[in-house]
Amino acid sequence: MTYAPMTTAVPLPQVADASGPAKRHRTVGVRVGSGKGAVLVGGGAPIVVQSMTNTDTADIEATVRQCAALARAGSEIVRITVDREEAAAAVPHIRDRLAKMGVVAPLVGDFHYNGHTLLANHPACAEALDKYRVNPGNVGFRDKKDSQFSAIVEQAIRHGKAVRIGANWGSLDQELLTALMDANAKSRTPLAADAVTREAMARSAIWSAERAEEIGLARDRIILSAKVSAVQELIAVYRMLAARCDYALHLGLTEAGMGSKGVVASSAAMGVLLQQGIGDTIRVSLTPEPGGDRTVEVTVAQELLQTMGFRTFAPLVAACPGCGRTTSTVFQELARDIQNHIRDEMPAWKSRYPGVENLNVAVMGCIVNGPGESKHADIGISLPGTGETPAAPVFIDGKKAVTLRGAGIADAFKALVGEYIEKRFGAGAAR
Ligand code: SF4
Repeated sequence: MTYAPMTTAVPLPQVADASGPAKRHRTVGVRVGSGKGAVLVGGGAPIVVQSMTNTDTADIEATVRQCAALARAGSEIVRITVDREEAAAAVPHIRDRLAKMGVVAPLVGDFHYNGHTLLANHPACAEALDKYRVNPGNVGFRDKKDSQFSAIVEQAIRHGKAVRIGANWGSLDQELLTALMDANAKSRTPLAADAVTREAMARSAIWSAERAEEIGLARDRIILSAKVSAVQELIAVYRMLAARCDYALHLGLTEAGMGSKGVVASSAAMGVLLQQGIGDTIRVSLTPEPGGDRTVEVTVAQELLQTMGFRTFAPLVAACPGCGRTTSTVFQELARDIQNHIRDEMPAWKSRYPGVENLNVAVMGCIVNGPGESKHADIGISLPGTGETPAAPVFIDGKKAVTLRGAGIADAFKALVGEYIEKRFGAGAAR
């Protein structure tokens, strides 16, 4: 058999669009909080990471502890449940305790059903919070809906706070949905039920925002969300919102679930939207294991934004998956040790080494891709695979710097990472 010679005349496949994310959807910027902890959501500001506690807010001790952990993990806004009188009474104490600990992240109160009463009965709570979240689907029903919604918006105006109007698939405004379903049934070209529900979600959020403006809340105090638990539905609803308004948008897949399912579903849905330029702040709603670490949702949100190239939070560790060439656990242990070491050290490194979050580290399992990938990183190590000489070359800025051997490879590599950081990001570094 003969083969035709390759020539440069072979046409390359056409790539539809390799130009990266779409231009950000233009939204009105909303300042949340005040002083050192204030963050801008929308208006072209970097996409903000936020999270929510799962403690009983009336338990001041537990809520303070979790708010602080979430903020220290990198949550730039923290939301707490305000569901009853005891919770509302606890809010100012939580705010004070956090301030004394130096935790300045804005606090958001999550209100359902009785927000109008709690905010009126607890002015110190209304003042201590930086933003109120209201759900147009359960803020009030029938003739009480408008007055209760208005009461919350008036509190926000009085105290100078932002409001997130958060529609939710699971608590959608049933009167609106029924009206739209009826109108659809009479239409000569009726839509599928899902499409009507999406329409109700988008209308519920936008109409409520317009009503808040009529009451007197400034446009730059309003953030919208319309959370759904199905990936394709979420993408569709947010595309509708972005096409119809310029309110700042809070993204999140509600009830994303546990473990890898929650991470994958949230990343898939929000990744698509962020790539299309939609979204000003994100929350990854993960169900923790019983007793699990709530801060995981912050790490996932940061990693989503960083791996997509929108923001940088902490050095990235590139590690190969390992294969039949890595029959010992040394490689996995080193990759885990380095990742944990970086996460543990980051709070201190952040202030001592400006720019350290841009560092790239590689931990590779064998000679096949190890040296190549390590050369692309700022600092990388290529461990010996099965049957290879027990030596681990370390590459720094693309050049082989040293070869490590013996039992102390992990500690020696961590020391080299530390030296590299000091040299490149420390006080004496040439910038
Ligand atoms: S670099 Fe080596 S150990 Fe890692 S996946 Fe590739 S072949 Fe396997």
